Amino acid sequence: MAGRNFLFVPGPTNVPDRVTRAMMVAMEDHRSPIFPELTRACLSALKPVFKTTSAVPILFPSSGTGCWEAAMTNCLNAGDKVLASRFGQFSHLWIDMCTRLGFEVEVLETPWGEGAPLDRYLASLSADKQHKIKAVLVCQNETATGVTSDVAAVRQAMNSVKHPALLFADSVSALASIDFRMDEWGVDVCVSGSQKGLMLPAGMGVTCVSQKALEAAKSATSKRCYFDYGDMVTSNATGYFPYTPSLPMLYGLREALAMIAEEGLENVFHRHTYLAAGVRAAVIEGWKLKLCATAPKWHSDTVSAIMVPEGINGAEVIARAFKRYNLALGAGLSQVAGKLFRIGHMGDLNELMLLGAIAGAEMAMLDVGVKIEPGSGVAAAQKYWRNHAAAAKSGSAA
Ligand code: PLP
Repeated sequence: MAGRNFLFVPGPTNVPDRVTRAMMVAMEDHRSPIFPELTRACLSALKPVFKTTSAVPILFPSSGTGCWEAAMTNCLNAGDKVLASRFGQFSHLWIDMCTRLGFEVEVLETPWGEGAPLDRYLASLSADKQHKIKAVLVCQNETATGVTSDVAAVRQAMNSVKHPALLFADSVSALASIDFRMDEWGVDVCVSGSQKGLMLPAGMGVTCVSQKALEAAKSATSKRCYFDYGDMVTSNATGYFPYTPSLPMLYGLREALAMIAEEGLENVFHRHTYLAAGVRAAVIEGWKLKLCATAPKWHSDTVSAIMVPEGINGAEVIARAFKRYNLALGAGLSQVAGKLFRIGHMGDLNELMLLGAIAGAEMAMLDVGVKIEPGSGVAAAQKYWRNHAAAAKSGSAA
């Protein structure tokens, strides 16, 4: 099909040309005397992205899923109990993994469209007088439903009852796009991946581990080998990896982190908030449709999950967008399959790119019979962004 493919799934995201170019390198000896420069550049530039000075970033040749597994198997003993909430496909998959790895999971079932239920985390933690819960899991940004949760408040709940469990946060679709604060929020393991806010291809698990979690890993009895934190930390300390790392991914990561530093991390967050608000204006004010996120406090700044009207199959909107307009939209997964489609708005993007996605979604919806006004989403997003710019000029923008 002529023209560019418009990639608007919530990961993988668009890889900036600068990063692609940085990845086009001849292979090198990963045991050379100069290799540690690359390792150290990547690991040290990741620390401010995780907002940590004391925790240790680790890169696994995996995706985010590998980092979930690493968190569980490095820090816990076989059969340990963990507390987690389920409110979408990714929080579900993490819980499913825990069960399959033999951990006992206390699941806080939560309607899809809501986020982490803080009162119920608190209730479970305060009822756990014998401290059987060894880790508390929370998905910061549920990509399947476009819902962001308050990780800091989960930590506050733990602290308020002096619960000693470790806190594991999934920030796969939040890191480097939505604020994440490893140290301030007392997160023990942050799980993420390369293909979202970090603007790289999929294939690198990007995680960060607190000193408390590393200490726990020294005596944890769960079986692991390839994903062993200890092996990685020991090797990385010398500037190397315990096995052959992906050279292009490391060069790409170094470049992506340089781009984030040049824009400024806080500016990256503001850009995501501003762009997301334009998409929400298109959905709510333009198309008069609903988001899956049931309240503004849950609205995600990296992905919008858009409910299609009764009688319309969201999968048809996605298929039409792809086949006719060369636009990739995110599918509804599991419980919400067919009920919604998703627009990813994370990573390397701007207003005009999003206007293309909004226009394409609009045309695909019209083609399959959704009763919306042509141009209404595009107009609402433009209006939001122009009003925002005008307010910023007059000094009253948020
Ligand atoms: N967690 C969340 C919130 C995700 O969005 C994803 C993937 O989209 C994952 C975990 C799994 O990560 P990966 O596909 O990189 O293994």
